[in-house]
Amino acid sequence: MFLLLLALQQSVADSSPFRALALPAATPARSASGAPGPRYWQQRADYTLEATLDTATNILRGKGRIYYVNRSPDALEYVWVQLDQNLFAPGSISAVLNQPPLRFAGGVVFDFSGKGFVGGITIDRFAAAGRPLATKVFGTMMRVELPRPLGPNLRITFDIAWHFPIPPYGGGRMGRVGSHFYELGQWYPRMAVYDDVHGWNTLPFLGAGEFYLEFGDFDVSLTVPAGFLVTATGALANPTAIRTPQERARLARAFTSSQVVQVITRQEAIANATRRVPGTQTWRFTASGVRDFAWAAGSGLRWDASTWDGILVQTFYHPDAAPWEEANAMVRFALKHFSGALGQYPWPQVSAVEGLIEGMEYPMVIYCPSLQKREDQYWVLMHELGHQWFPMQVGSDERRYPWMDEGLNTFADYDAAEAFFKGTAYGDTVRRELLGAYAATAVPGTEQPMITKPDEVRQLYWTAYQKPALMLSILREAVVGRNEFDRAFREYTRRWKGKHPQPADFFRTISNATGRDLDWFWRNWIYTTARLDQAVDSVRASWIRPWTRCAPETTRRSCIYRIEPRWSCRSRWSCATPTARWRRATYRSRCGTSGVTSRIGWRARSAWRVR
Ligand SMILES: [Zn+2]
Repeated sequence: MFLLLLALQQSVADSSPFRALALPAATPARSASGAPGPRYWQQRADYTLEATLDTATNILRGKGRIYYVNRSPDALEYVWVQLDQNLFAPGSISAVLNQPPLRFAGGVVFDFSGKGFVGGITIDRFAAAGRPLATKVFGTMMRVELPRPLGPNLRITFDIAWHFPIPPYGGGRMGRVGSHFYELGQWYPRMAVYDDVHGWNTLPFLGAGEFYLEFGDFDVSLTVPAGFLVTATGALANPTAIRTPQERARLARAFTSSQVVQVITRQEAIANATRRVPGTQTWRFTASGVRDFAWAAGSGLRWDASTWDGILVQTFYHPDAAPWEEANAMVRFALKHFSGALGQYPWPQVSAVEGLIEGMEYPMVIYCPSLQKREDQYWVLMHELGHQWFPMQVGSDERRYPWMDEGLNTFADYDAAEAFFKGTAYGDTVRRELLGAYAATAVPGTEQPMITKPDEVRQLYWTAYQKPALMLSILREAVVGRNEFDRAFREYTRRWKGKHPQPADFFRTISNATGRDLDWFWRNWIYTTARLDQAVDSVRASWIRPWTRCAPETTRRSCIYRIEPRWSCRSRWSCATPTARWRRATYRSRCGTSGVTSRIGWRARSAWRVR
């Protein structure tokens, strides 16, 4: 009888696509509403570091202290530390696995092989209370044995020293040009995250998976050749020792003027590039409530500055990077836009640095290339700036869930692009590229679910960037409505600012705030590669008007049609597109005098058909 019951039970298991998603149970740390629970905790790591950039050998040497606080309820017998430079160590896991480069739209490639560079980090000291600690390195992760278990609410100070050769091309995350320009991310031993979900997060750095980091304060002194210009996470703590009177005067003007001020002009930058200044200079930066610290240094850089709402917007670029003359205004626009959409930018400055890195983000610092096409230039600057919210404030686990930072950011980016290019053909149509990407990339049999870890994903640009952006666009516009969605999205951003959300926290927050059961939606978009099974029944042209303007990319005369598609789902129902959606169905093709309806019908079928 029991077996029969068991068999019956199995046979009636709910296989509906609308069944509840199997989310982890709520805990005192993570509530069922998606908010941090009453006993939410996370570790804290503060850093006081000193680093010297040796441009003769291209070696970076650092020393300092990590102040680590165990706020977990557990006693820790060891800690894990991230040594990302070991991506370039001989025989690294990444090299053995022969991790393929990441390829993005527009030919952007992140090659994690280091293009043959062999390096790696050397830990010269890792000590506590004057005693060296036992360590063991596993690729980019290092386990450090503690002298005695670190109980809840206890703290330990690590005394550290390290050095590594700076790669010319650091897998799209760091790099240098000769010995005169350096972009430095992942340059110091960083505490791995210990959390209530996975304990120690020890997935190695292989390239594609970015970072999961604790929040804390930084006090960093950087010694570089005199004559170098430096920018970094945080605010400059010794400006009177560093800035020239002219720079100080020009910076002050940036705070009183609505214009972009050239702190170092093109002519001055060109002159600085060949000027040799003997000795070194130490720049000290302090930052509070950040999860990482990055910097850039070099000679012969232009420097523009402006302010928005008291926040200093800085752009540093080479004299030959002409598109960057507009970069400061672009970053400032995006800063204002994101602050309005996602919550005020919380830090005193943001620096955009032009260089060899194709696009990378750190708190208050973004690295971007110079791009000829204005739309591309704005996109990369604005996208990296958007990361100041996801994940620099909302500190999700990038190594597991890139959709939670790249995806949420890319979704917000389309709004920022539409706002900047409002009223232009690009601004009016840019989001449609997501549909093209869907048609081209969401191919049955090859597409991977959004939940897949980034190191295992073949098409990361689709899976972690574009697909989540399309998913959230559809959720907002077609499922819950713009006002409800925006309210819920802002609530998620506010709840998890300075914290570590998991996917379930996002799902639960959106469902709780909108009052919608969205398990079916998340299941199909995130955990599967399910596709819509729809076909267009018929298309009726509601009006036709010759399009008088020539398309910029072609000299052909075009017509613009508004079409009213009707679709069916396995022939069980059909509906007309709501009038409000007509604009989405606007379709442009060559002008013709006859057979228009049938041609639209045929084109629309192929364009809309989704298998
Ligand atoms: Zn990104």
